[in-house]
Amino acid sequence: MINRFTSTLVVLLWSLAAVHAQAPSPIAGVPSALIEDLVAGSRILAEFGVVDAFGHVSVRDPANPAHFLMSRSLAPALVTADDIMEFDQDGNAVDARGRQVFLERFIHAEIYRVRPDVMAVVHAHSPGVVPFSVSKTPLRPLFHNTAFLAAGVPVWDIAKEFGVTNMLVADNAKGKSLAATLGNSSVVLMRGHGDVTVGPNVKIAVFRAYYTDVNARLQTQAIGLGTEITYLSPEEGAKADQVNFAVLDRVWNLWKQKVQPAAK
Ligand code: MN
Repeated sequence: MINRFTSTLVVLLWSLAAVHAQAPSPIAGVPSALIEDLVAGSRILAEFGVVDAFGHVSVRDPANPAHFLMSRSLAPALVTADDIMEFDQDGNAVDARGRQVFLERFIHAEIYRVRPDVMAVVHAHSPGVVPFSVSKTPLRPLFHNTAFLAAGVPVWDIAKEFGVTNMLVADNAKGKSLAATLGNSSVVLMRGHGDVTVGPNVKIAVFRAYYTDVNARLQTQAIGLGTEITYLSPEEGAKADQVNFAVLDRVWNLWKQKVQPAAK
C-alpha cells in the first residue's frame, strides 16, 4: 500500500516537473532557465538587503544581443517570470503593453552597447556602498570574495557632466556617461546614489553586487580599527577571482534555495 502510494506520488511529481520544464518562456527565443536566473537574482538581492524597493537586474537577450531583458517597474522581491520585458539597444520597451518601465533602464542599455563582454547588469542602492560614493576613500578589495574589485572601482559623479539633476540616470546621455566611467571595470559607484555591477552572466553580476556591499561594510569596519589596512593586490585579485568563478554554483544554489518558491 505504502509502496503503491509512493510510486503514484513519484509519477505525479515527475509529471509536474515535466510540465514545469516545458513551461513556455515569456520572451520568444529566450530559454526559461535564463528568465529563472533573472527572477532568482532579483529576489536574492532583495533577500540580502542589497536592493530594497529600488534596484534592478538585467540580462543581455541571447536571441538578439543588441537587446536586453529586465522586469517591468517593480520591487525586486516581487519579480516573477511574467514580469520580464524586452528592451532595445536604446532602452525602449519592445512590447510595453501598458506596463510601467524603470526610469533608470538607460544604465543597462548604455553598458550593453559599449561592453560586449557584459551579459548581465545589476543596479543597487546598497547601504554599505553609498558612503564610498560620497567620500574620498576608494572602495578596495578587502578579502578574496571581492577580488573583482582589485581592478579598480571608479566613482561617477552625475554633476560633473550634467550639473544639478534629480540624481537619476533617466536618459541615454547619462547612461552613456556612466558607462564611460565604468570603463573595463566590474563595478562603478554613483555619487550620492548607489552602484552598478556587471558580469559575464546573471550569477556573477549578482555575486558581485552582493559582495561589493559586504566589502564596503567590512572596509568601513577595518577603517574604524584605525591602523593601516592591507588590501588585495591586483595580482592576488586576478588569482582569487578564478576561484570565485569555480565555486559560484555552490553560492548560487544556496541563495536560490532561500528565495524559493520564486519562480512559478
Ligand atoms: Mn537608482
